[in-house]
Amino acid sequence: MKYPDSLDKLIKGFSKYPGIGPKTAERLAFYTITKMDKEEALDLSDALKDAVNNIKECKICGLITDNDICSICASNDRTNELMIVESSRDVIAFEAIGSFKGKYHVLGGVISPLNGVGPDDLNIPKLLKRIKEENIKDVIIALSANIPSETTALYLKSILEAMDVNVYRIGYGLPVGANIEYLDEITLSKALEGKKKM
Ligand SMILES: [Zn+2]
Repeated sequence: MKYPDSLDKLIKGFSKYPGIGPKTAERLAFYTITKMDKEEALDLSDALKDAVNNIKECKICGLITDNDICSICASNDRTNELMIVESSRDVIAFEAIGSFKGKYHVLGGVISPLNGVGPDDLNIPKLLKRIKEENIKDVIIALSANIPSETTALYLKSILEAMDVNVYRIGYGLPVGANIEYLDEITLSKALEGKKKM
């Protein structure tokens, strides 16, 4: 027996998520239409639509935001220190510990020749532009502890040093292979406290 078209479409939709196989997609779709409160299911569908339509990258730092400029870039209470991270989720992780008072720059990835990602694919031109325009003198590279991140950090260090910028890197307490977005707050705080000049 074939599923009704609309259900089939929903299953196909769920199966597009990473780590969701056909069986799980089927379970999620069935749950949505048979177990979920109708209002809740429709709210979910609205939330999906709103997020897809409204979330964009901040024109300055690349952080996800509902506006053209994110609330951190728009704030007057931030210092002139700049933290470079891989993704918006890393910004959320650092904001949760609350000890960093500067601004962020989201690269949108790390250099990884194996995956076909080079410096040109990252949010680097805007980084260099704002370092000049905002007269930034101190940059903290807060990337995860793996080889692509290491390559990216060294690449950034080489171009930033030529611009007369102090380049720091978080380190202490950051386990090898650690992904920033999954670290607990204590480990992340220690990594930030233990920043070292590169
Ligand atoms: Zn921003």
